Amino acid sequence: PIPGGRSAISFDELKTILLETPKEEKAQEWSKYYTSGPHLAGQNYSQVVWTQEKWEEFGVKATVAAYDTYINYPLGHRLAMYDGTKLKFEASLEEDVLEEDPTTGLTNRVPTFHGYSASGNVTAPFVYVNYGTYQDYEDLIAKNISLKGKIAIARYGGIFRGLKIKRAQELGAVGCILYSDPGDDGKATEENGVELYPEGIARNPSSVQRGSTQFLSVAPGDPTTPGYPSLPGVPREPVEGAIPSIPSIPISYVDALPILKALNGIGPSAKDLNKYWQRNTGLGYKGVEYNIGPSPDNIVLNLVNEQNYTTTPLWNVIGVINGTLADEVIVIGNHRDAWIAGGAGDPNSGSACLNEVVRSFGEALAKGWKPLRTLVFASWDGEEYGLIGSTEWVEQYIPWLAHANVAYVNVDVATTGPIFGASASPLMNKLLYEVAGQVQSPNQTVPGQTILDLWDKSISTMGSGSDFTAFQDFAGVPSIDLGFGPDDSAPHGAPVYHYHSNYDSYHWMNTYGDPGFHYHIAMTKIWSLYTAKLVEAPVIPLNATDYAIALKGYIANVEDKLDASIAGIYSENDQLEARARPMVIETKGSPSKLKHGFSKLHKAVARLTTASIAHDAWAADLAAQAGDNIPWWRWFSKLRLIYNIRKVNSKYKYIERQFLYKEGLDGRSWFKHVVFAPGLWTGYAGAVFPGLVESIDDKDFGNALKWVDIIEDCLVKARKSLE
Ligand code: GLU
Ligand code: CA
Ligand code: ZN
Ligand code: ZN
Repeated sequence: PIPGGRSAISFDELKTILLETPKEEKAQEWSKYYTSGPHLAGQNYSQVVWTQEKWEEFGVKATVAAYDTYINYPLGHRLAMYDGTKLKFEASLEEDVLEEDPTTGLTNRVPTFHGYSASGNVTAPFVYVNYGTYQDYEDLIAKNISLKGKIAIARYGGIFRGLKIKRAQELGAVGCILYSDPGDDGKATEENGVELYPEGIARNPSSVQRGSTQFLSVAPGDPTTPGYPSLPGVPREPVEGAIPSIPSIPISYVDALPILKALNGIGPSAKDLNKYWQRNTGLGYKGVEYNIGPSPDNIVLNLVNEQNYTTTPLWNVIGVINGTLADEVIVIGNHRDAWIAGGAGDPNSGSACLNEVVRSFGEALAKGWKPLRTLVFASWDGEEYGLIGSTEWVEQYIPWLAHANVAYVNVDVATTGPIFGASASPLMNKLLYEVAGQVQSPNQTVPGQTILDLWDKSISTMGSGSDFTAFQDFAGVPSIDLGFGPDDSAPHGAPVYHYHSNYDSYHWMNTYGDPGFHYHIAMTKIWSLYTAKLVEAPVIPLNATDYAIALKGYIANVEDKLDASIAGIYSENDQLEARARPMVIETKGSPSKLKHGFSKLHKAVARLTTASIAHDAWAADLAAQAGDNIPWWRWFSKLRLIYNIRKVNSKYKYIERQFLYKEGLDGRSWFKHVVFAPGLWTGYAGAVFPGLVESIDDKDFGNALKWVDIIEDCLVKARKSLE
């Protein structure tokens, strides 16, 4: 098809609208709205309708995409410590109501609980298990401390919370408690003389981190429908193995203290273990010595967790602006559901920005803008339980997305501070540098400085933990995730972000996180401009060379890892990472054969690099001919140029897809991408070449060789797709 769109405004005019429309007061209004009451997944219908109506009011057509999903809601809980039959302590399991922070006192506030936790009522002695990484549990085994029949108490941090419970369960624990230790809060602690929230920036010690405890092992999304959408009436798979079978609850530091102190002097102390156990303990702060236990048989915890499991609708709000090109689609999204009444950071800083983005594009429409590509806005539901809304939607529309989706731009927590950060498919890096240089930083200590000027310019690889996962890892759509985070370099550290707690509130945000909402507006502008470029640039602004260069680097890293594994030497980084996964002693296959196999990868990536450079050069030439002003598309004298641009664009659209492997990763076949996946043992952090690296970690060099072949195939396919 020949694009024949007529836009009354130029790209420069569009850019001006996008940079001038967003306003702090508006973002504050949206933030206040979303954070004024509970909006758990499936229990936020009024916010669904409101969001849909707002977007329509802004001039964007919006519909609701609903899914029937299997999730849990809290009914009751109890945690008490006994000496024999004598009650020693009963945890409040409640966060303090703060006068300064009104939503902390709502009568309908959300109880503290874990998504996908198991109901149960257990009474047992308990063991302190540090961060609950795989290796932490191995250290316990080495010390002859058994978890069988015990309750494990783990601190938050390091790895995805569900994995802490998974391993405790495998080792025979009957229950699990996760608590927030201020030792993990950096410099902003009471111990360092910093005042507690709400008076100051240190963690309010009654804060509790709710959160999902699914195992991340099978697939994100509804655990009863891996790989297909949870539409009414579809068959359901059993959830055993995907979510915990032992009860768990999250607790505050205040509630953890008596339990930790009850272990003082019992069993080995963190002091007697390694540095990984001593990290962030302060050993003695508030009288806690971090002994492991187990507590004697008469000192027991009674842990009660009652959850109502139900299959219930979740709702995504989907806004669409049809472009001239129906087969080139840009999707941008943020989740709406939160664990608490607030959620001013997670996710509604992003939701406030998204509304401002939609409003800005609506302004442009009102002025006669007609987009080149189709633009889809998504307000996802059910992210918190396991990326449900986005995953089900991608699973439903996969045929269309595979054909038409050019890129996905995610913002979850838009801001908890002033430090810009991003993770992305390398295809999308170049555009981010360009756009970050066009948005002024709210920090104008040096007049005129941009987001780019104040950014360390590092872009991480895609892991998991937010709604880009199904796009990147399942659909092979290049994705990017943007956000501002805390500035830990401040003398007293950054304001502690009360993640998944009642104190992630409007009051916290406007007092400490982003006073005046200037970073909300900076994020809105970056998000809008980034999106506008993807939608409008005649030549799709992805960069294949950056991908090829990144791939070359990843291959070199994996090879270094292989060399180290052969030599038996591990870097500090490797050791840290190994804390979260099993160490393997038995070797399978030949490492030297594998080493040889790497030469194929080097060759394939070198040829891909050549093809990428040529492709990007051709694209740059066409882009220069086209300019970035939209009226160009009306010039029918340029049919040949349009034809070539369509060709170049179609190649850009499909590069990322070449890295999908139909069979998926070993043991987790939903994950189709051979380059990026969430770390198997960490959950959040990204792993590159996961199939290959996990095989090397397992010392299964035969299987690693299989992955070398799969990766080589993808590299060849990618090159051929560009040639
Ligand atoms: N972002 C949520 C969390 O970290 C959900 C992550 C997930 O379940 O994949 O708790
Ligand atoms: Ca599904
Ligand atoms: Zn979130
Ligand atoms: Zn969250």
